[in-house]
Amino acid sequence: MIKLETLKQRSRKRMGQVETIVLKKALHVIELSYEEGVFVQISSGYRSWEEQAGLYGQGRPDYVWNGKAYGSGGPIVTYARPGESVHNEGRAVDFFLVTRDGTKALWEVDENWRRVAEIAKSLGFRWGGDWTSFRDYPHLEWPESRKATLKRGDTGAGVSEIQRRLDALGYCLQIDGRFGPQTEGVVKQFQEDHAVDVDGIVGPVTKELLGLN
Ligand SMILES: [Zn+2]
Repeated sequence: MIKLETLKQRSRKRMGQVETIVLKKALHVIELSYEEGVFVQISSGYRSWEEQAGLYGQGRPDYVWNGKAYGSGGPIVTYARPGESVHNEGRAVDFFLVTRDGTKALWEVDENWRRVAEIAKSLGFRWGGDWTSFRDYPHLEWPESRKATLKRGDTGAGVSEIQRRLDALGYCLQIDGRFGPQTEGVVKQFQEDHAVDVDGIVGPVTKELLGLN
């Protein structure tokens, strides 16, 4: 029988830079399922915008993004463009099952598969198999958390929203959902321009000035 640690190891490698809570909860899904004799692995987690463009291009041969061709053949696998997938925010993982010895992937949405989805939901995930339009059975998504204060090191939709506002106000920065040095620098510039405390942290005052309350 495959070891629990092996399943977790393989999954960690595939998840990339997902949010910490998502990483913890996904590993917990693997553990709880293992206790019930169901063997789960994560196939993907965080996805860059470029990777998303590659996926969106599948089944859309003429697809061009940012001046680069990403189109290819085969069936359509996603309806989310770069930046539109929660995978781009590090808030989602995709899972699949493996055989007891861990050598073969199992993609059939059977009783075990649904049991994993139940476990994931009990831990707070939303399951793509519950969606009404395009059912995405491997997909587990963590609900967005609205933080009161955002600062360097934070990621996610809240950060993208701030970046979009700053961009709309004429500040030059990349909208990638990552609060890195560039975003911090722009926030400081914005604070300086508005004669408030220059700390590079988006708290209540800065949010208010950005029109985000
Ligand atoms: Zn997914």
